[in-house]
Amino acid sequence: MFKKEIFAKIQVPAGGKVRISDFDPGWKQVAELWSTERKPDEEATEFRAKKVLAESRTQLAEAQELLWASDTYAILIILQAMDAAGKDSTIRHVMSGVNPQGCQVYNFKVPSEEELDHNFLWRHMKALPERGRIGIFNRSYYEDVLVVKVHPEYLRKLPPGKVNKNFWNARYEDINAFERHLTRNGTVILKFFLNISKGEQRKRFLKRLNRADKHWKFSLSDMKERAYWDDYMKVFEDALSATSTEWAPWYVIPADKKWAARSIVAQIITATIQSLDLEYPEVTPEQTAQFDEARRQLENEANGPG
Ligand code: AMP
Ligand code: MG
Repeated sequence: MFKKEIFAKIQVPAGGKVRISDFDPGWKQVAELWSTERKPDEEATEFRAKKVLAESRTQLAEAQELLWASDTYAILIILQAMDAAGKDSTIRHVMSGVNPQGCQVYNFKVPSEEELDHNFLWRHMKALPERGRIGIFNRSYYEDVLVVKVHPEYLRKLPPGKVNKNFWNARYEDINAFERHLTRNGTVILKFFLNISKGEQRKRFLKRLNRADKHWKFSLSDMKERAYWDDYMKVFEDALSATSTEWAPWYVIPADKKWAARSIVAQIITATIQSLDLEYPEVTPEQTAQFDEARRQLENEANGPG
């Protein structure tokens, strides 16, 4: 596990203005996060990261069981990123050790007509994890201040009014209030922006195009959105600056190295659940007496007929 101070390096401070360009998506920041050596060795670091991911998985499985047993908190994990940043594979790797009954993943796509007939938080409210569970939002209501801010023509069915700075500020305010409500009621929120560089996205798109078994992952709309890269960086900066709060912080995860992103995300989730100091429900003396009685009955049965 790496130390708390290191989490602080990738956590967006509440109330501050963040610049995406201050976070290196690649090896530079990974090295900074993982090593105190002057010249960290990439291969050794990769090896260590994989070990940490394996350890975190075991710890996460234990933490999740305790989360379930204590039935007080829910964990909501929000993943946002440019295409091909590794949202799906991060979910797959980080959650692979967790009991599927304690975990749920929702993918949010272009909203349906029914969804557009409601407020923009509605479909997400319906998908929130209950106490004891880990819920993952693969994309989320943040799309309503990201893709929709890049393409305001997606806004439909709203009351009349100008789509200006105040309009977007009102959305950030609503998101912060919603998340405040959730955390006050026992949902712990972790928000990850998987920060991939434009060059790495190019490489991953090319890989999808060059390998027949990866074609299904490529879509022309991803290519279209790539052309808006700078606009996306700007709306991500706006959203992260406005919505990283004490109660629901954003983490900027260096995502050019998949192994690094996975192990960092796994560690933050595990450390957060552990910090809740959960305990298994206590057994009362009365229950202990009942258990003793049940044990006695079962033992007698084994000695008897049948
Ligand atoms: P994918 O996650 O690759 O299956 O793509 C889902 C698509 O849905 C992405 O292009 C998102 O930008 C888009 N999307 C998600 N939420 C919204 C939204 N609220 N409005 C418009 N598009 C959205
Ligand atoms: Mg896609």
